[in-house]
Formats: sequence, structure tokens, C-alpha cells
Amino acid sequence: LFAGPLDFMKGVVAMDGLPPGDRPEVCFAGRSNVGKSTLINALAGRKALARTSNTPGRTQEINFFALGDSHYLVDLPGYGYAKAPLAVVERWQRLLKAYLAGRSNLRRAFVLIDARHGVKAVDEEIMALLDQAAVTFQVVLTKADKVKGKDRERVLEQVRGALATHPAAFPELVLTSSETGDGIATLRAIVADLA
Ligand code: GDP
Repeated sequence: LFAGPLDFMKGVVAMDGLPPGDRPEVCFAGRSNVGKSTLINALAGRKALARTSNTPGRTQEINFFALGDSHYLVDLPGYGYAKAPLAVVERWQRLLKAYLAGRSNLRRAFVLIDARHGVKAVDEEIMALLDQAAVTFQVVLTKADKVKGKDRERVLEQVRGALATHPAAFPELVLTSSETGDGIATLRAIVADLA
């Protein structure tokens, strides 16, 4: 399996900038601060921060990486900025919709959900877009190290309930912690199996 090179290819702000879709691709979506860049780096087996879109000015960029020599990995802009102007949100939604609808090599989307917080309204919006585009998505719970026992069970139940209403949802959840490394190998294997 690939643990290793994660090569930044390009940041894209419009559909005409998309790199060729000549490898199977997976994309990662999640609310800002969910732990997306940390997880992407953990997946690639490295600590240093991947080039990410953590500043509001860059929220509309879709970042493409080559993961080993087998897959492309796509870092979608974090959503849910309380202060993002409506025009910015709308532009990003248009780009996201176009990407999801038009990317034939896209094998799966991973929707990252904070294991402490469960599915929020903005996550539901992304899931609805994925349903509409018929892109299979799988929920990855992040920061699992921060929630244990009954609290964790309660969140898992909430997430499963939310997924039951989404036709594009893949039923199995992946519980991860970039802190402890839990679930990272599992997620890596899932990606590697998507041919
Ligand atoms: P992004 O905005 O989704 O890219 O989020 P980041 O990857 O920048 O992470 C946001 C914050 O959560 C940072 O302070 C990380 O150190 C922290 N974080 C990320 N993953 C984990 C995790 O698995 N466990 C814990 N405890 N903290 C994490």
C-alpha cells in the first residue's frame, strides 16, 4: 500500500483547470477545523502539513495531490466558515457541484465528521449534493481520541441515523485519530482498494 509520496499537483478555482482524470480519485470534504489536513497528511504517512486551504481567502480552491502513483487525492475546501460571505459560499458551491457531477474518475468522497460533534446542518448540505451527483460517500469520524464510551456511542448513533436518509451514503463508518493513528491504515486500505 502507499504510505509515502503525496505530491501536490495543483490548486483549482474553476472547472477548466482540472487536471486529467487518468487515475482513480477520492476527495475529502469537511467542516473547517474538522482535522482534514491532518488526516490527509496522516494518510500519506507524514507529519508536515499538506498545502491546504485553511485561510478564508483560499476557501474556493480544490487542491489536487498524487497519492503514490495509483490515485489522486482531492482536498476540497473546508466549509462552514461562519463569516464567509454569501458570494464566496455560492461560488464554491457552484464549483463543487460542477466537480462532483463531472468527474468520472471520482470513486468516492470521504465526508469528515468530528467524532465529538456528529453530523451538523452544513454536513447535511454536502451530503445532499453528493446524493444529487450520485457520488458514493463514506463518513470518516475524526479526532476519535477525544471521545470515549457512551459519548462516542451516542455520536455514532446520530451519524448512522443521518446517513440512513442519504441514498449515496456508504453504510460503514471509519473511526480515525490522527493523534493515535487509529483507523488510518483502514482508511488507506479502503482508498487503495478503490480501483
Ligand atoms: P482542517 O481545517 O480540517 O484542515 O483541520 P486541521 O487538520 O488543521 O486540524 C484542526 C485542529 O484539530 C488542529 O489543531 C489539529 O491539531 C487538531 N486535530 C486534527 N486531527 C486530530 C485528531 O485526530 N485528534 C486530536 N486530538 N486533534 C486533532
